[in-house]
Amino acid sequence: RHFLARINEHNPTVNAYITVMEEQAIAQAKAADARRANGKASVLDGIPLAHKDIFCTEGVRTSCASKMLDNFIAPYNATIVEKIATAGMVTLGKTNMDEFAMGSSNETSWYGPVRNPWNTDCVPGGSSGGSAAAVAAGLAPASTGTDTGGSIRQPAALCNLTGLKPTYGLVSRYGMIAFASSLDQAGPMTRTAEDSALLLQAMAGFDEKDSTSLKRDIPDYNATLNDSLEGKVIGVPKEFFAEGLSDEIATKVRDALAEFEKQGATLKEISLPHSHLSIPCYYVIAPAEASTNLSRYDGVRYGHRCENPQDLADLYTRTREEGFGDEVKRRILVGTYALSAGFYDAYYRKAQRIRRLIKQDFIEAFKEVDIIAGPTSPNPAFGIGEKVNDPLTMYLEDMYTIAVNLAGIPGLSIPAGLVDGKPVGLQLIGKDFCEAELLNAAHRFQ
Ligand code: GLN
Repeated sequence: RHFLARINEHNPTVNAYITVMEEQAIAQAKAADARRANGKASVLDGIPLAHKDIFCTEGVRTSCASKMLDNFIAPYNATIVEKIATAGMVTLGKTNMDEFAMGSSNETSWYGPVRNPWNTDCVPGGSSGGSAAAVAAGLAPASTGTDTGGSIRQPAALCNLTGLKPTYGLVSRYGMIAFASSLDQAGPMTRTAEDSALLLQAMAGFDEKDSTSLKRDIPDYNATLNDSLEGKVIGVPKEFFAEGLSDEIATKVRDALAEFEKQGATLKEISLPHSHLSIPCYYVIAPAEASTNLSRYDGVRYGHRCENPQDLADLYTRTREEGFGDEVKRRILVGTYALSAGFYDAYYRKAQRIRRLIKQDFIEAFKEVDIIAGPTSPNPAFGIGEKVNDPLTMYLEDMYTIAVNLAGIPGLSIPAGLVDGKPVGLQLIGKDFCEAELLNAAHRFQ
């Protein structure tokens, strides 16, 4: 009730939630109270959270912040929604996001922009901007997000949160509306690394319904949070401190790195020589995958359908013209072009080769270091409207996060202080399945 009251009071300004699930939340909370009274409660039992509106929730609108799915009531739960409910958590509602998770500012939502609780003239980052703003404004203690190129870590950075993109395949994608399937991963958005560890524990694990889900033992993420950092080697990529990084962020990140040295870690300058190719590579692969994933929105099976279609072509054309926003259309056009006959080798195959080189950079670096650290985003939160008409500048917001998705490895953004009252994020990048190591470093820092 505390969180529902805060949502009532502040959501009209922040716009973090698309759907508030008041009745369901109270019913789930009462059930959790009963389990507590019987001494049967687990650690997350009764704790509220919010789900990004990209996760299917049975009987509840799941819009992906698109007009296309404004009327879509999901007929089943995403695996992570199910797992989190089984852990006893209470769902407060569904959070705002960039349309189909395409964006870095939460301004492409059909439901309007989200405001950053630290400065309501600014964006919260994106695409999981509603999930970030909800936690930052105290409208939920934790939330879920998805990260295809930075969409958990960048809004976490801009809203002073801890945001984790797990290793590809650790968390099930079943019931998570697809954007770019080889890059999409779900993860927790919380205030602290400790909360992140608890929520990841509930989310991670093999799922036979997701063919890219991996069978592995899941460690106890909380057990190693306090381990010493003595002797750890932290790699600092020189490419992350070059052109494009604002001076204030560079200073804050260097201060944070010094803190790790005090804890007994050593810093080592490294190079990720293909870093400059990550944005061009991503903007071929992600739109290509998006163009095929979004072909299912045809006005036939579900979602928006235009009025009085004259024939099948008219049905498809007007449904998609009306249902998708500009950024989504831009991605579909780029992706269709990159995959078209005669261009496939020049764009898509070339991008896949560059992706392999980017992965190789990390493999080489991790021969010498345990963790890689640097900024999460090149700038603090920017003004609403400032970059929305300049897609290329917007795309650069993800210059430090995208390579991590292309390589499939885990990345964590943690608060590293404020610049002029705006939060700055420090990014920690790990080897495949080294989430526990990242959370440990983050916890020692916090
Ligand atoms: N900002 C990037 C994009 O627009 C990443 C989005 C994401 O991670 N979902 O594609």
